[in-house]
Amino acid sequence: MSAPVVDYRVDGPVATITMNRPAYRNAQNSAMTYALDDAFTRAVDDDAVTVIVLAGAGDHFSAGHDIGTPERDADQTFERRAVIWWDHVGRQGVDSRLARESEVYLGMCRRWREVPKPTIAMVQGACIAGGLMLAWSCDFVVASDDAFFSDPVVRMGIPGVEYFAHAWQMNPRAAKELLFTGDRWSADRAHQLGMVNHVVPRAELVSFTHALAGRISAMPPLGLALAKKAVNQAEELQGLRAGIDSVFGLHHAAHAHNAEVAGDALAGLDARTMR
Ligand code: ZN
Repeated sequence: MSAPVVDYRVDGPVATITMNRPAYRNAQNSAMTYALDDAFTRAVDDDAVTVIVLAGAGDHFSAGHDIGTPERDADQTFERRAVIWWDHVGRQGVDSRLARESEVYLGMCRRWREVPKPTIAMVQGACIAGGLMLAWSCDFVVASDDAFFSDPVVRMGIPGVEYFAHAWQMNPRAAKELLFTGDRWSADRAHQLGMVNHVVPRAELVSFTHALAGRISAMPPLGLALAKKAVNQAEELQGLRAGIDSVFGLHHAAHAHNAEVAGDALAGLDARTMR
């Protein structure tokens, strides 16, 4: 029996959801996607839980989507919860990629962003590409001083990950620099640019995050849910949803271009060559 890909535990008013594929730096496959979705649902349904912490087991929060391990899901069927669309399996080209990425990447991040309880991403080590999407879906990001952030997919000719919140998570010039260079940003840099709430020593990451969650949990749950929705709605009024939808089209144009001229949708690159 292998360990579950997501661990769930409750400590007082705080539920901690932990991605648990440390051997693959918590690369996200669809098994993890649905396990995360189950865990968020469980935390929402538990009245004793007020705040949700999203964590990654091991040295890294998440190295992104699974583009190279034996358990990746591109050819496997999975259920659909985030969108009503047909199965991607057995379909070709954009028909397959759009179905798959609408559900497990974009749709799921939107679903989790709208969880009616405060969520805190607790980030150490790598937070790369698809890892950014998970962290950005949370209300807060607390990072340890060894955390680093990057979206290097322009190297594949792709204009950023599927959940294109870059220009809302930081100012537009910073978003361009993150994308154009593919650089790894330190936790301090991400903090300066407003993408991270707090940076703490690695040894204090869990205690700091839980203390913050504990302070939030003293607030009434409905007040928190409404305050969260208020700020999320402000982001929608700033164009977040329409912006992401418009860039999702560019993202799929890039996948299609790669498939047409560069061998496959990822321009022949995988986890190893992207490093
Ligand atoms: Zn994609």
